[in-house]
Amino acid sequence: MKITTYKNLHQLTILGRIFPINCYVYEEPDSLTVIDIGTSLFCKHLIHLSKKLNKPIKNILFTHPHSDHISGLDDLKKRIPSVMVHLSERDYLLMKGNPSAAAIDGLQIKGQFAKIDTEPDILITDGMIIGSLHAIATPGHPPGSMSFYNENNGIIIVGDAMQTACGLAVAGDKRFFFPFPALATWNKELAVDSAIKLSKLKINALAAGHGDLLINPKESILMVIDRAGRKLRLTT
Ligand SMILES: [Zn+2]
Repeated sequence: MKITTYKNLHQLTILGRIFPINCYVYEEPDSLTVIDIGTSLFCKHLIHLSKKLNKPIKNILFTHPHSDHISGLDDLKKRIPSVMVHLSERDYLLMKGNPSAAAIDGLQIKGQFAKIDTEPDILITDGMIIGSLHAIATPGHPPGSMSFYNENNGIIIVGDAMQTACGLAVAGDKRFFFPFPALATWNKELAVDSAIKLSKLKINALAAGHGDLLINPKESILMVIDRAGRKLRLTT
């Protein structure tokens, strides 16, 4: 377990060399918000961090429900029954094992979905504010993908809308040494549109589901949008 802290954000990482998975903790003045629990391996570390910071875990948000982002939810909910679970409506359908109901245009939903018993308390919609984080719809990886943004410190947590493992990439633009987010991406065109939407924000730190935090990523984001766009034009 590795913990990296940038301003209000703590990045917890497991399996760093093989299949790096990040779980995030965003520190509010009097509570903590977990973004993407990842696997149940994170639970004891989250509880330890909560004690160390002397702040309760109040909310948990999901960028999307692929199993490497959500499979520890039932375990965390058992340990902290009061935690409020937030998930986008479309992702809720995916989580309930109904991928076709979540599709928009008939493209096949990809990736692994774990069976989760915990029901969300709140279905997230674009523009919703949870604590000091704004929910921004960033569809593409799955259809209901959400990013969470604090406009004061410029931190954004994007899940798999972008990856930083083995090089920054927009969802769907495959990186040879870490191709998994690309292989699990549903709609590459929408993923590029979502990355363009994010590139218009003031971003100081990009926090992805897989890979290190990227500080001052603006130019890099514009470069990988260009790369992903060019690849798409070549294949269409
Ligand atoms: Zn994913």
